[in-house]
Amino acid sequence: MAIKSLREWLAVIDKEGKLKRVSRDVKLEYELIAVAKKASSKYAVLFERPVGDTLREDNRMPVVANTMVSREDFSKLLGVPVIELADCLMRAQDNPIAPVIVDKEKSPAKEVVIKDVNLYDLPIPVNHLGDNGAFVTAGVIVARDPATGKRNVSIHRMQLRDEKHLGIFMLPKHLDEFQRSAEKQNRPLEVTVSIGLDPILMLASQVTAPLGFDEFGVAGALYGSGLELVAGETVGVEAPANAEIIIEGKIIPHVRESEGPFGEYPQYYSPQTQSQVVEVTCITMRREAIYQTVVPAAEEHFLLGAIARESRTLKMVREVAPNVRALQLGIGGNRRSHLVIQIDKKNDGEVRNAMFAAFSSNPEIKHIVAVDTDVDLFNSIDVLWAVATRCQADRDIFIVPGAQGSTMDPSAPEGVGAKMGIDATAPVGSLEDEFKRIENPYDGEIELEEYFN
Ligand code: MN
Repeated sequence: MAIKSLREWLAVIDKEGKLKRVSRDVKLEYELIAVAKKASSKYAVLFERPVGDTLREDNRMPVVANTMVSREDFSKLLGVPVIELADCLMRAQDNPIAPVIVDKEKSPAKEVVIKDVNLYDLPIPVNHLGDNGAFVTAGVIVARDPATGKRNVSIHRMQLRDEKHLGIFMLPKHLDEFQRSAEKQNRPLEVTVSIGLDPILMLASQVTAPLGFDEFGVAGALYGSGLELVAGETVGVEAPANAEIIIEGKIIPHVRESEGPFGEYPQYYSPQTQSQVVEVTCITMRREAIYQTVVPAAEEHFLLGAIARESRTLKMVREVAPNVRALQLGIGGNRRSHLVIQIDKKNDGEVRNAMFAAFSSNPEIKHIVAVDTDVDLFNSIDVLWAVATRCQADRDIFIVPGAQGSTMDPSAPEGVGAKMGIDATAPVGSLEDEFKRIENPYDGEIELEEYFN
């Protein structure tokens, strides 16, 4: 099914009973996020009456959270089995379909155009106690390389500063590079920040591609047709035509202000930094726009980034270890630091080669468990069973010290730390022998309701 807007997707999950509505007042300060977090692995939640310290009393813009919380949803959206999600995203990156520009009249995101902007009109939640204020967490940012004009698409946390300014946190990646190159010429960097998008577009924004690669091409490939973009009112950068809300602005050169702390994916606060500031020049939106938020350090945040990272790792691992069938970033490692590799190995050594490639593919990966094809790699308990029964610590675990890891890992100074590989595969040829799992012909078929009185 080609779902190309947040609204279409909400209609689908509503029908399936997976969208819950909250009609009572819910405070934007902490309460909304606490409710969403509690529901986060089960339900999307539409908060119809957010109230907040800085929100006008008659402001009734709803907030939606948890719209992308399961691999099963992505599997349905993309028409591939769960185990092939990373493959599918990998293929999309190899075969991108360029976006198309549509007239402003055809873009629902242009139904309302606000030139005298006030960011306090947006229901932006405050997430965690130590956070330094309210943060936009689901804003998809588009900018152009000042040198080449090529587009980049990425998500960055943005701190609400005042009516017209957002702080923006950029890791040293593509957007940061654009900004610094504009700044060298004393020029602002124009951006659009789109809020309220469908899951496929959100997923595409997360791929790790080389500089100069337009991530929107991945969305096109996943849809099967080019993503529709619309021109800005005040900036020379486009935004998705079906967005709920588009914020236009420019990153001011030579300005840094304190941003954060902010509760990040490892479930710790990332410290205050001196970060760039976006001056907002225009906001356009749909009539009755829905504000979307991603709850930090909850399943939606974890999963969105995980599938994109898995596709990159899979690509690199398959080059040296083609017998790797699938891999997944496990929930126990915040879907960043723990990787499970499922391999149909033909010799016992290739398991370690696969693990070396995986470590090289992404510094965030800290611990890897390799399992055989009879282990459910998405089930942490099954993976631990393999560790319990197919692994001897003195023989099957290796540790590499002093490698680059995540700078957000508080146990690794500057992110430099150890990598651990755990080979929980049985010896080649033994799965039908001494490592054969117990089985029953009815396995996987029993519906208890059909048996109980
Ligand atoms: Mn990029």
